[in-house]
Amino acid sequence: MSSVWRVADVVGTRMETPTARTLRLRIPGLHGHLAGQHVDIRLTAPDGYQAVRSYSIASGGGRGALEPHGLAEDELELTVEELADGEVSPYLVRGLQIGDQLELRGPVGGWFVWHDGDAGPVQLIAGGSGIVPLMSMARAHAASGSSAPFRMLYSLRSPFSGYYTDELHTLAAEAEAPLQLDYVYTRQAPPGTSTPAGRLTAEGLMRRVLPASDAPTFFVCGSTPFVEAVAGWLVDAGHDAARIRTERYGGIGGTP
Ligand SMILES: Cc1cc2nc3c(=O)[nH]c(=O)nc-3n(C[C@H](O)[C@H](O)[C@H](O)COP(=O)(O)OP(=O)(O)OC[C@H]3O[C@@H](n4cnc5c(N)ncnc54)[C@H](O)[C@@H]3O)c2cc1C
Repeated sequence: MSSVWRVADVVGTRMETPTARTLRLRIPGLHGHLAGQHVDIRLTAPDGYQAVRSYSIASGGGRGALEPHGLAEDELELTVEELADGEVSPYLVRGLQIGDQLELRGPVGGWFVWHDGDAGPVQLIAGGSGIVPLMSMARAHAASGSSAPFRMLYSLRSPFSGYYTDELHTLAAEAEAPLQLDYVYTRQAPPGTSTPAGRLTAEGLMRRVLPASDAPTFFVCGSTPFVEAVAGWLVDAGHDAARIRTERYGGIGGTP
């Protein structure tokens, strides 16, 4: 099923930030998904030119994670960051309308996923739009009532570029299955924050992640340079490479 192109209906949209938009899609025949999976989107121009891009699923997997958000089993949500010089993302963020249709393949992926039966500690590390599949895991974790310790480190440019801010704070305040949440602001920190803005460093990372003695499973997602820097620092600090799962979104340059 996942290798077949299907037609998805756009049934809702909302802006998360001035440059990031969540798309709610209905995919007839879809029966849920796993937290952390992605889909491929294919756009076809009138002259037949096609472009395919991958997008992580933001909504939590499983019925329990869908219902609180009013999602049906055949629906999912993506969040797309607009790259100013991009071919596909500006259309998904600015051009696509409710009622439009997209070609979609998936859900895809069986390694970068969190299963609600996994009881071990989890450390999520997001750079920019890499928060998307990690939010799916955080939502699935909260909905399942899992007792697995969950900690998230979210590196972003400024408080204005954060996705899902209110919901993340709600998840962090959950009485059961709370999410321990840490932010790193790379360009502008919120007023009153004791740590000045600046790129994540190896030392800053180690202060904000579960220790190697807890043997956490890491899920690291973001631009390719961000993921490679973080994964390297974790291994250097003694974390087992076999427990570091990564998803690279592409791009060149520094950490977000
Ligand atoms: C498994 C997977 C899941 C993904 N999930 C998401 C998601 O949930 N949300 C999301 O917004 N994107 C996600 N991406 C990235 C997405 O697939 C596209 O690469 C992105 O939207 C850019 O496409 P574009 O056509 O607009 O830009 P392109 O025309 O492909 O590229 C334009 C320019 O931007 C650069 N660029 C491409 N990607 C990045 C990047 N990540 N960071 C910085 N510069 C970049 C290119 O090198 C190029 O210079 C995911 C990628 C993968 C592989």
